[in-house]
Amino acid sequence: MGSMKSNFKIFSGINQILDFAYPRNIYCIVCGIGILPSEEFSICPGCRSRISFIRGRACLQCGKPIAESGILDTCPDCLDKKRSFTRGFSCVEYEGAIKEIIHRFKYGRQRHLMHPLGAIMVRKLKAAGLVDVDRVIPVPLHKRRKRQRGFNQAELLARVIAREMGWKLDKKVLVRLQDTRSQSDLTKQERQRNVRDAFGLFPGVSLKGEKVLLVDDIYTTGSTMDSCSRTLRQAEPAEIYILSLATGRNV
Ligand SMILES: [Zn+2]
Ligand SMILES: [Zn+2]
Repeated sequence: MGSMKSNFKIFSGINQILDFAYPRNIYCIVCGIGILPSEEFSICPGCRSRISFIRGRACLQCGKPIAESGILDTCPDCLDKKRSFTRGFSCVEYEGAIKEIIHRFKYGRQRHLMHPLGAIMVRKLKAAGLVDVDRVIPVPLHKRRKRQRGFNQAELLARVIAREMGWKLDKKVLVRLQDTRSQSDLTKQERQRNVRDAFGLFPGVSLKGEKVLLVDDIYTTGSTMDSCSRTLRQAEPAEIYILSLATGRNV
């Protein structure tokens, strides 16, 4: 048993090295045509033009896109809510090609997609002017699910962000205590209940006065991010920012 465990450690160490040694894709990650290595996010211009990047007005609380002409500064989800995070950012709408790429990344074992997807998130941070963060914290997966999938997609994205921005990646802050049901087929109320007590802090963690960035792949109603942030608050950070790659439509 002991040697199996250490083999696993070596294996995951090699994987981490490979994540950064993997050659940048010279094929569009969406349609597969040949592209220049310098092409942004390894996506050809045609496919890029069909992705809904969030560039216009966004909810001041969670970062979801909102109507350009609306009078409210928040999305309907945040309207009656005080979020436990300071402010949220999201990069693209969860639809079409992006939906398919995220699916391949998570379930098709295409780990290398962490690079173009992480690059999309880095661009968002720079555009938003969020340049001083003390720690990047991925939303954790339950250890059983992580073992099944082989990795935590939020952690891979957080690793690219931390490296590109020169920030500290910290996986030893939050722990997922419950292997919650998949959120995708639940209503808003069910989602909140599903994740309410799902997270805990590692013993002895202090984030006193720090600015932390919580990272996840998909944001829908915000119940997961809210639950994580509420847990993080116990460690007294100064600010909690949240960043998701894609934002889903309200349910
Ligand atoms: Zn393409
Ligand atoms: Zn919102």
